[in-house]
Amino acid sequence: MTAETLPSDVTIHPIPAFTDNYIWCIHNNTNAIVVDPGDAEPVLSYLNTKGLTLSAVLITHHHQDHTGGISKLATAVPDLPIIGPRGNHIRGITKSVAQGDTVSLPILNLSFQVMEVPGHTLDHIAFFGHGALFCGDTLFSAGCGRLFEGSPEQMYHSLNKLKRLPDSTIVYCTHEYTQANVKFALAVEPDNKALNSYADWVAEKRSQNLPTLPSNLKEQKNINPFLRAHELSVKTTAEAYCENKLVDDVAVFAAVRRWKDEF
Ligand code: ZN
Ligand code: FE
Repeated sequence: MTAETLPSDVTIHPIPAFTDNYIWCIHNNTNAIVVDPGDAEPVLSYLNTKGLTLSAVLITHHHQDHTGGISKLATAVPDLPIIGPRGNHIRGITKSVAQGDTVSLPILNLSFQVMEVPGHTLDHIAFFGHGALFCGDTLFSAGCGRLFEGSPEQMYHSLNKLKRLPDSTIVYCTHEYTQANVKFALAVEPDNKALNSYADWVAEKRSQNLPTLPSNLKEQKNINPFLRAHELSVKTTAEAYCENKLVDDVAVFAAVRRWKDEF
């Protein structure tokens, strides 16, 4: 088991990349780890400005917008540990990890548990430790990743795995998709009070160009339709959307995911 909170000297900062990616930088003002560096430039410039030494890279899945910066970072920092999914399909990974493995980063007094969460891709993993979850493109605020490789059933089980983490878990997603996700979530659950007030908060943040992330698991359980397939309100609109009875929560989840794809 890892500690429940971050060491007091550690902070987590979003480095914006491309149009809507965040490369999370975990640092103690001296050493840093980055998660999913799709682009090396913004990472190197942040490290440079802050005077940080890059100590490791964590990778959640193979997509280019999460891995594109690996080779440049590896060139800039000799012997850089790059930790990610097994399978040898991601160039530059120096250590592959799987479900149940612990990633130890003693330089920052951190350790993370690896969770396999297939769905968006089949290789997708998440890192959990110190009350923080780095979930890549599996869970977004008010949304979830598109099913590029996995089945709805796989994604449903992966999200359920994340749901079993403590409610206080801080959720660090890779994309600022929140506002569009909220718009869809409101179509699924127009009368969800928590969701309506969250929508106002998101609009306020985005109007100031501020991140809506991280979120926390308790909030997501209240507002995210992809974590709420068991709710009658979600089932009802999902059935109306597909003009069919939905037999179980997996079927509801699958229908909501399809609906979002067409929204
Ligand atoms: Zn992706
Ligand atoms: Fe992505």
